[in-house]
Amino acid sequence: MKSNKKLIEILRNISKVIQENKQFLTDLDAAIGDGDHGLNMSKGFKAFDEKVLTLVEKDCGSILKTLAMTLISTVGGASGPLYGTAFLKASIVVNGKMNLDNEDILKMFEEMIGGIKMRGKGERGEKTMLDSIIPAYDSLKESFGSGKDVVQAFRTATEQAFEGVEFTKTIKATKGRASYLGDRSIGHQDPGATSSYLMINAVYETLK
Ligand code: ADP
Ligand code: MG
Ligand code: MG
Repeated sequence: MKSNKKLIEILRNISKVIQENKQFLTDLDAAIGDGDHGLNMSKGFKAFDEKVLTLVEKDCGSILKTLAMTLISTVGGASGPLYGTAFLKASIVVNGKMNLDNEDILKMFEEMIGGIKMRGKGERGEKTMLDSIIPAYDSLKESFGSGKDVVQAFRTATEQAFEGVEFTKTIKATKGRASYLGDRSIGHQDPGATSSYLMINAVYETLK
């Protein structure tokens, strides 16, 4: 499907969306955490933007590995290592590839989810980023299985990720800082689930 150039375009758009939503993500985190999620993410993706020109001829694995290492080294807090691990895991499955097909995309999502679960010892339903990424993955798998094209598949996956964000409002956090609030976290949407949704939506917006 997509070339290394398209991957870079996607990642630049993700960065742009993160910058645009910096305050929003930080406000969400202020309600149930320590109010830095937007700052953390924005810092990490800005650092990636500064390296992006060196990546235009690189394979998809190298591009994602650079993103992963940048997030791990520049983003403080839980989200840096979690997203960093996710992108690092994804980078391994597309190591050396200049083009990605639907199979690669599914494998990348599988690895990302596995990485986040391993690193954060979490599962779906704990009010975290997993609550938007896992429904998006399930949806992609179903769409590709029924022969939908990648744009259609990401459109539906984005809707499912959004539903996942909405779902986080109804549950209490049992992982991360928000878990310190216990039942008082109910009613608030999770910042990390929101940033994941924004990233998945940015993939769709870039591809469509
Ligand atoms: P911190 O909480 O250290 O300040 P951030 O504010 O950047 O880090 O990120 C908070 C987000 O990280 C949460 O909204 C949640 O989605 C995610 N998160 C926290 N802990 C975990 C975990 N164990 N597994 C998955 N995601 C997590
Ligand atoms: Mg925080
Ligand atoms: Mg913090």
